[in-house]
Amino acid sequence: MKVSMNPVKHETAGAESAPAEPRPSNFLRDIILDDLKTNKFQGRVQTRFPPEPNGYLHIGHAKAICLDFGLADEFGGHTNLRFDDTNPSKEETEYVDSIQEDVKWLGFHWDGLFYASDYFDQLYAWAVQLIKAGKAYVDDLSADEIREYRGTLTKPGKDSPHRNRSVEENLNLFERMWAGEFPDGSRVLRAKIDMASPNLNLRDPVMYRILHAEHHRTGNKWCIYPMYDYAHGQSDSIERVTHSMCTLEFEDHRPLYNWFIQQLGIFPSQQSEFDRLNLTYTLLSKRKLLQLVQEGRVSGWDDPRMPTLCGIRRRGYTPEAIRNFCGAIGVSKTTGVIELAMLEHFVREDLNKRAPRVMAVLRPLKVVIDNYPENLVEEMDAVNNPEDAGAGTRKVPFSRVLYIEQDDFREDPPKQYYRLSPGREVRLRYGYFITAKSVVKNDREEVVEVHCTYEPATRGGNAPDGRKVKSTIHWVSAAHAINAEVRIYDKLFTKEDPSQVEEGQEFTANLNPGSLEVIAQAKLEPSLANAAVESRYQFERLGYFCVDPDSRPGRIVFNRTVALKDTWAKVEKKTEKK
Ligand code: ATP
Ligand code: MG
Repeated sequence: MKVSMNPVKHETAGAESAPAEPRPSNFLRDIILDDLKTNKFQGRVQTRFPPEPNGYLHIGHAKAICLDFGLADEFGGHTNLRFDDTNPSKEETEYVDSIQEDVKWLGFHWDGLFYASDYFDQLYAWAVQLIKAGKAYVDDLSADEIREYRGTLTKPGKDSPHRNRSVEENLNLFERMWAGEFPDGSRVLRAKIDMASPNLNLRDPVMYRILHAEHHRTGNKWCIYPMYDYAHGQSDSIERVTHSMCTLEFEDHRPLYNWFIQQLGIFPSQQSEFDRLNLTYTLLSKRKLLQLVQEGRVSGWDDPRMPTLCGIRRRGYTPEAIRNFCGAIGVSKTTGVIELAMLEHFVREDLNKRAPRVMAVLRPLKVVIDNYPENLVEEMDAVNNPEDAGAGTRKVPFSRVLYIEQDDFREDPPKQYYRLSPGREVRLRYGYFITAKSVVKNDREEVVEVHCTYEPATRGGNAPDGRKVKSTIHWVSAAHAINAEVRIYDKLFTKEDPSQVEEGQEFTANLNPGSLEVIAQAKLEPSLANAAVESRYQFERLGYFCVDPDSRPGRIVFNRTVALKDTWAKVEKKTEKK
């Protein structure tokens, strides 16, 4: 697998800028290179990212954003953010706002900010032009009848009885549709193309429908709305988009977009299609994500288990990691599925470089060092980030009573268990060697306290006699620890393909009941007391963690971004060996 960076010219303030590495080419980039060579668009590269504001952006959209913005940036071009807001019943300003925030967070800046609804007047005028040219007609068939008349892949369609209305009658009816004379669904405007076309999109597609609905931007000005397929290509054309990139399902729509452009004699934007991103254990459909939110299966669009950009941001993923991932997966003309582990690999790789290391104990077990002076507190020097010499050191308080991870002590250690157990000596990170001597148990025979002795000469972690210990464990001083809630996340779905269900079941049957575990009483080193929301850390030996916005003064909440173990790296090694 080729792992390469997709440098982005525009960075959000404070974001680290990526080193410019040679980019791997792909067929979309090759198309642009060719067009520049032949001067097809006079050297212009104009792209757009065209979300429908009917939900929050997800990691699949990130792939499209990186292509739309990344390729234009590379060739000194421009990118518009255009909201395809042709469906008033499903669209909301909440989504418009979140989409802008997410694009900026990913590190991109648009040149023009547009809405398909900006073009409603122009689209209406063009519809009238097509009617006058005998290329569009008003149809009175119901939606069901239109479907029936359309035919199938193997059966040609049938002409509507209204297909041959006169231009005058069509103009009159269309104007009355516009004026609000007719109820929803009673009439549509259709393009007059070919009911026998092998491409179903060309069988007289609907251009306008009647919808007495308030629009988030045009209010009640309109009661007829253009269909996406009538608006999309012309919106590109109006913005003089040269390279209109979209996902493969729109390949069959391209002849229709080109037909409108030809009939109207307007600027010919050129569409190219690429594969959608699919990820294992993940659903990338706004409709299904909305269902999870509406049914309360998650806490909201920004639940850290969601594949939405606001969800993974809250989880602790960085824009750099997502851009690196999008660069590495590349583009193709066939749809595949990418391992979720690969995305996590890029998150780890990025956080490893910049997340400060700290010590935190998630499931505390009390350790008392019997020979350590009762009231002594020592400040131990701890390295902030071994990957970044400039990150410096900090002081961590050490005292007689500590917490360690329950997992790091076994009364009856199995073979090859080298952490703390009776009689065994281990190293406390940045501290001393300690040896476990005895335990205190509760009524249920559980170990609640381990009594140890320490070796004063090992301060800082090494023995003057050169003797070795087999393990180093992390700890926090009990008297200095701060309490925290830590939320541990697992995959949201149990199946690799969450949409695969038994008959009669819904995809929600595949939700993982163990996708969230809340640890209410974790103990953290005191340097984290004022950690800012969204700041990210490596909890030594545990993983990467990020401060959640639910944090309150005196009650910090951390999300586990990703554990340390890198299963993807293992997969990669295995495939390299083959
Ligand atoms: P969904 O199926 O989740 O509702 P959509 O395609 O309807 O997504 P749009 O708002 O229309 O969402 O998408 C905006 C742009 O993002 C389009 O160009 C679309 O092709 C692209 N896009 C959407 N989902 C993906 C994905 N999974 N991978 C790559 N690009 C995507
Ligand atoms: Mg869509």
